[in-house]
Amino acid sequence: MYDVLVVGSGIASFSAAMFAAKKKVTVQVIADATGGQAARQWDMYSYPGYLGKDGDPRTKRAEQSSYDGAQLVQNIRKQAEELGVAVAEAEGGIQKISFRQEHNHEIFILEDAGGNVYEGNTVIIASGKKPRKLGVPGEDEFIGKGVSYGMEESAQAFEGKSVAVVGAGNAGLDVALALSKYAKKLSIVEVGDRAGGDKSTQEKLAQSKNVVYILNAAVQKIIGNEWVGGVEYISKTTGETNQLEVDQVFVTTGMNPNSDFLRGFCEVNQSGEVVINPRTNATSHVGVFAAGDVTDIPEKEAIIAAGEGAKAALQCVKWLVDR
Ligand SMILES: Cc1cc2nc3c(=O)[nH]c(=O)nc-3n(C[C@H](O)[C@H](O)[C@H](O)COP(=O)(O)OP(=O)(O)OC[C@H]3O[C@@H](n4cnc5c(N)ncnc54)[C@H](O)[C@@H]3O)c2cc1C
Repeated sequence: MYDVLVVGSGIASFSAAMFAAKKKVTVQVIADATGGQAARQWDMYSYPGYLGKDGDPRTKRAEQSSYDGAQLVQNIRKQAEELGVAVAEAEGGIQKISFRQEHNHEIFILEDAGGNVYEGNTVIIASGKKPRKLGVPGEDEFIGKGVSYGMEESAQAFEGKSVAVVGAGNAGLDVALALSKYAKKLSIVEVGDRAGGDKSTQEKLAQSKNVVYILNAAVQKIIGNEWVGGVEYISKTTGETNQLEVDQVFVTTGMNPNSDFLRGFCEVNQSGEVVINPRTNATSHVGVFAAGDVTDIPEKEAIIAAGEGAKAALQCVKWLVDR
């Protein structure tokens, strides 16, 4: 039994754990995988004070940045553990949250997919977001065999390949820009009638001769044998079904909050984000707090996740002491 249970293994959770532990309460982090989104493609320029490996924070380096993000989370975890935080690797993540009454207080009970149970006086939810799937045939089959949800390795690994980026928002165009230097052919497939993203990224992509936009195109299927061979899409303009031959598909169609296990327990908004009081990080369930990308705080940035984690921890410990 711990004073504070923290759900998640990203920046917000380890930051929360660290700041709670500094207040001399017992803390356990329950994690399903280490690193969270920070272990994916990153521009460390947006993390204040970070100078990068070559000392130049302005250089956007997809080749190095995923390492930097993962390392940052490892560093915060190390700081938390040095302050006495226990970390439990939950099998399949937390699936259920409930409580029981003891001496007029609620004791919170978390349960993972393996049936392991964790108990605490308070909970901080920092379970973040995960990439939104297309939900089409072939997608699950080819995950790790040509389907990915962001730049999980160096863009250079795609030198000479034909690749498709599905989704032309900010994230999609960032991935496309990194790939455009190496790919033989890069198709940006977008269900809407125009690309999003910032103007300068659009302009840089417009200068790349290997980049084509396929707009008004709804992906229906991912095809291949042992490895991805292409995508099938319907043109919303002509109604025709077309096939695009590619060696790799990057799905960049947005992120969903990891909040399924909280439904019915505390308030979530229409997008599934946990609704919090922005001053205290309290959820609608007394004694349960939340921080980072899983919440309805609109800004989804690493530094904000770190700050929100710290803030949630301080408020959570204050609540524990005052109750
Ligand atoms: C491709 C990409 C690029 C980005 N680039 C930048 C950037 O350049 N600069 C920037 O500032 N921000 C960037 N971000 C955003 C930034 O990474 C996030 O805002 C930040 O990492 C959020 O941290 P978090 O701890 O709230 O959530 P997450 O990083 O999502 O961590 C949540 C963790 O909780 C775990 N979890 C989920 N459900 C459960 C459960 N039920 N039980 C236990 N554990 C669970 C998850 O597996 C995950 O490890 C980027 C994000 C992506 C995806």
